[in-house]
Amino acid sequence: MNAAEQMLALIYLPLLNWRAGWGTGRRFHELLRSERWPRERLDDLQRAKLSDRLAAAVREVPYYRNHGAYAAADRAGSAGEILRRLPILRRSDIQRAGRDMLGPGHVRAQRSRTGGTTGAPLEVWRDAATRTMAEAALWRGKSWAGIRPWDKAVSVRGMGKASVLGRLRMRLLRKWVVEAFQPAPDQRRRIRDLIGRIRPVSVEGYVTDLLDLARGQDISAAGIRTVLTTGEMLYAHQKTELEQAFGAPVHSYYGCNEIAALAFECERGMRHVTDEHVVLEAVNADGEPVWDEPGRLLVTDLDNRAMPLIRYELGDIGVLSREPCACGRAHRVLKELVGRQQESIRNETGERLSATFFAGRFRNLRHVGRLQLVQEDVRSVEILYDGDEADAALELRDIVHEIRSRLGEEMKIRATRVDAIPLTARGKRPLIRGMKD
Ligand SMILES: [Zn+2]
Repeated sequence: MNAAEQMLALIYLPLLNWRAGWGTGRRFHELLRSERWPRERLDDLQRAKLSDRLAAAVREVPYYRNHGAYAAADRAGSAGEILRRLPILRRSDIQRAGRDMLGPGHVRAQRSRTGGTTGAPLEVWRDAATRTMAEAALWRGKSWAGIRPWDKAVSVRGMGKASVLGRLRMRLLRKWVVEAFQPAPDQRRRIRDLIGRIRPVSVEGYVTDLLDLARGQDISAAGIRTVLTTGEMLYAHQKTELEQAFGAPVHSYYGCNEIAALAFECERGMRHVTDEHVVLEAVNADGEPVWDEPGRLLVTDLDNRAMPLIRYELGDIGVLSREPCACGRAHRVLKELVGRQQESIRNETGERLSATFFAGRFRNLRHVGRLQLVQEDVRSVEILYDGDEADAALELRDIVHEIRSRLGEEMKIRATRVDAIPLTARGKRPLIRGMKD
């Protein structure tokens, strides 16, 4: 971005998301500078911010004050070293703690509820500084994908309807927010027409929705420069399908409702962690940090005082790497996002098959249509599909064979044809709906 564009961003960003505050543009500039920092400087920043957050959490938040491990925490060493001496914070801990998780800033904070799909909802409070940081990080991530704040963009949303005023404001800022497809059968065509007419620089949305939009269609003539996916795992074969349909490179970003803007793909296709905002860790079953192999992802928010999350277990499995990226950024790389912990099926002895495995193994299915594996107990699996029953028989037999060969012949497997694969409460359609751990 040149100097004039950076000036424009200073004004433009707060208009795009007034809730994130006027500081967004300035924060964005800071992030454009720190993205060129050497690793040591990022380490220093993380250590300093973590030390502050820990001290404030113990001082201000009953949960951390009353939990001996935090008050007595040894704050020597790097951010990673400090963190690994602390307990892992689980969703259930937060639910049990209730208001004891809240800091003094929460009165003016913004509250959001998360997770209808995975049990009881979680309330998360984010203060102004955190929202500013997350929004600025989002736009830095988009800049890596070649998207600038004033570029025309179409955003496909699964749920929720913006107000008329909200949509008008976004239109003036050259953003089109369209709803995904459940209500109107011709909505798909309308969205494709809209894209053809306004020729946006970028299209963004959930993987499921964008695949729906792309299915059997060629939208590549619309001149889209970038497709941005979020909210769900993007498997390799889906990426290829989207790239072909939209005729543009596909970038994914990683965030969650609890903490936004976790990681973004750079020009080299590597997902860089927003190290200025969070510490992301991957740990094995014993809680030991792991690099370059799959681990449970833990995140620590370095900004939020309204509801500090320290070593919060995201429920995702991912591979973190310290290898430097060819793009020159020293931010940690989330090399692979293997999937939600729940996006796997398992047997009684704990062996698992992940969604990634299935997505890779069954990328060439022709007849089963859409597929979803549902597991409610460890001895059985149900396969839902929406293709033609007679045509799908052979492919279903392969799938059953594959599952049994890995999880045991005694696994009960039932295939059920449905008219449509059910959506989750958040409007997603995961390949696997597994059991809770
Ligand atoms: Zn990179």
